[in-house]
Amino acid sequence: MSADTIKKRIAIFGSTGSIGTQALEVIDANPDKFTAEVLTAQSNDELLIKQALQFNPNIVVIGDEKKYNRVKEALSATDVKVFTGINALEEVAAMDCYDLMLAAIVGYAGLRPTLKAISNGKIIALANKETLVVAGDIIMRTSVEKRVPIIPVDSEHSAIFQCLVGETRNKIEKIILTASGGPFIGRKPNYLVNVKREHALQHPNWSMGAKITIDSATLMNKGLEMIEAKWLFNLKPEQIQVIIHPQSIIHSMVQFEDGSIKAQMGLPDMKLPIQYALAFPKRLPNDFPRYDFRKVSTLTFEEPDLKTFRNLALAQEALNKGGNLPCVMNAANEVAVYAFLRNRINFLDMTNVIESVMQKVSFIQNPTLEEYFDSDGEARNLAADIIKL
Ligand code: NDP
Repeated sequence: MSADTIKKRIAIFGSTGSIGTQALEVIDANPDKFTAEVLTAQSNDELLIKQALQFNPNIVVIGDEKKYNRVKEALSATDVKVFTGINALEEVAAMDCYDLMLAAIVGYAGLRPTLKAISNGKIIALANKETLVVAGDIIMRTSVEKRVPIIPVDSEHSAIFQCLVGETRNKIEKIILTASGGPFIGRKPNYLVNVKREHALQHPNWSMGAKITIDSATLMNKGLEMIEAKWLFNLKPEQIQVIIHPQSIIHSMVQFEDGSIKAQMGLPDMKLPIQYALAFPKRLPNDFPRYDFRKVSTLTFEEPDLKTFRNLALAQEALNKGGNLPCVMNAANEVAVYAFLRNRINFLDMTNVIESVMQKVSFIQNPTLEEYFDSDGEARNLAADIIKL
């Protein structure tokens, strides 16, 4: 059998989310290329059941133990195995029933199953950027040891990855990460202090999960992406530049040492980088809408406003200093974003919480995995104390 006729067996960790559901659309459109073998959700049992009945996977995981019986019962007429409990994701990540993990859980919760999958030699299509922000050194080291490819799904990193195909011998001078700027581009703090969650959840170009949508509005998302890029492409902080590009047509660029710049372009649609990562190294045909230069003919670029969007400055500090600081920043950010989403703090308070936690947690230059876990816990507790959760 040729490699082309063997179906890739996909495990979607976070199948009920924005990335997960779009990945299932890609799988559904390419039944001769992919099968969905593992689907996981935290609490959305209804959608997980629906997905399982449609895709007939080997295994589903429902994180919330209270929902286990409901899922089990709904799938009792099928062969689908149902797992739950705090260790279920890691247990399933280590199993033989799949080839490629799409890491699409949101936040720090994605770290342990992704690391387990890498340790077990699985190909990773990585959407969960927080995994690299928290423990990028350990993730990349393990992937090298296990010879496991990590294919980015984040549109900017997919763009850079695509620009680098065929360029292995050539040196990168810098990468240029594009940012839409989110819904509050050009706004100042006196406006931002009154912004409500509903407004912040309206992203102009992308439809995404709640956490990343808020991260995009604060520009923390771009900060997380700078750190993600450092690990994926082995870059120094000064080789990573962020530029605001409100049309989101150029997904990112690479400048080589001869000054030549390569860009990857297209309409903002996550299905494209998802499909690219699942099918790599092949490109698959599809009917996604195409970018037409005549319709969006003006592409603009501007400097990010680091004085207003201080999260990006904090992320740059974490990128420059390294150690456990990105992990601490990420934990404080997760707590702050969820507090904002529950109307417990205002838009600008998110930055104040993160800054304060970054100043308080002890710095560790070369943390072990356990020290990353501890730093994450300490930062979360501190952030919760500050917010009085
Ligand atoms: P969503 O919030 O839409 O989905 C998150 C998924 O993770 C859901 O399946 C959810 O289950 C599951 N989940 C949530 N919390 C936990 C937990 N504690 N343990 C296990 N599973 C959990 O997120 P997105 O799809 O938007 O984003 C996923 C990741 O991809 C993020 O890291 C994000 O930064 C990244 N990304 C997303 C992009 C996008 O366009 N959405 C673009 C680029 C990157 P349930 O539904 O049951 O809650």
